[in-house]
Amino acid sequence: MSAWKILLTDGLEDNGKEILRASAVVDDRPGITADELLQVIGEYDAVIVRGRTKITPAVLDAARKLKVAGRAGVGVDNIDLKSAKEHNVIVVNSPIATTVAVAELALGLMLSICREIPRADATMKAGKWIKKELEGVELYGKTLGVIGFGRIGSAVAARAKAFEMKILAYDPLIPADEILKRGGEPVSMDELLAKADIITMHMPLTADSKNILNADAFGKMKKGVYVICAARGGVIDEEALLAALNSGQVAGAALDVFAAEPPGQTDLVAHPRVIDSPHIGAQTIEAQARAANDISEEVLNALNGKPLRWKVA
Ligand code: NAD
Repeated sequence: MSAWKILLTDGLEDNGKEILRASAVVDDRPGITADELLQVIGEYDAVIVRGRTKITPAVLDAARKLKVAGRAGVGVDNIDLKSAKEHNVIVVNSPIATTVAVAELALGLMLSICREIPRADATMKAGKWIKKELEGVELYGKTLGVIGFGRIGSAVAARAKAFEMKILAYDPLIPADEILKRGGEPVSMDELLAKADIITMHMPLTADSKNILNADAFGKMKKGVYVICAARGGVIDEEALLAALNSGQVAGAALDVFAAEPPGQTDLVAHPRVIDSPHIGAQTIEAQARAANDISEEVLNALNGKPLRWKVA
């Protein structure tokens, strides 16, 4: 077997490194700069990145031996797929590794915003006891609108059912019978907006989904709706959300992703009825270990010409 050379640019859990080292020479260079990457990439058969490293056309031009670029995680927006194709570089990711982690965070955000758990904690730590102000709402019996009913959206629905919520799902790319099989009631976007008490977003950012929750969409929602987003920054028009919070149309929002990351202390981030987290959807020990396992196996399979489960390009 050839001794493949593999570069890790954003770190990888030990279980992944062990898989790779069984049949490859692995160089672990977390934090490598864009300039350094350009200088060394020519030595490697494969590179594994997370979200930080950008695999640009210039990197691919310099990558004379590169056969595979792997993304430990889902989003491949940091890899130039067109250029990778032109350079005959296979791009793979590990899309199922983080499903449970993101679904559990979405439920956590939902409970947190509905019961104001972060505010309860912050006020206690500040020496206050504001029990009377902290009257929340229950998930029980509420209608959850899931926009994007793929892996994560349907995993959220399965968990929400344990809270005895009713699930409405909008997904233009999944047939109605499949949505039913996954435990959702298929509805149009307008019906979902009109009927949901809580809306949770689980689609990728595309030309179609950009700002899908805009002023028009907020206007169609029930007054006092809650909005959860652990999908991608950009699927919500943040100015429209801020206006909807200020008018009372939206009772609260819980956001893990932002149009610009990090967003800084914007009016939206600082809003008293918004809960923020710094894009931690996939940040669990289990999800990261799963992603390391899956991407390491997939990159070796790609190098060795074996069948692939998650070829992106
Ligand atoms: P998936 O491909 O299984 O599901 C996405 C679904 O969205 C698909 O069924 C697709 O048909 C649907 N969709 C596409 N365009 C749509 C539109 N305009 N309106 C409604 N639905 C639409 O993907 P997944 O694994 O469930 O991931 C979903 C999202 O979660 C992705 O955007 C992903 O980047 C994001 N994500 C976030 C984190 C995080 O850290 N917060 C981590 C992992 C994934």
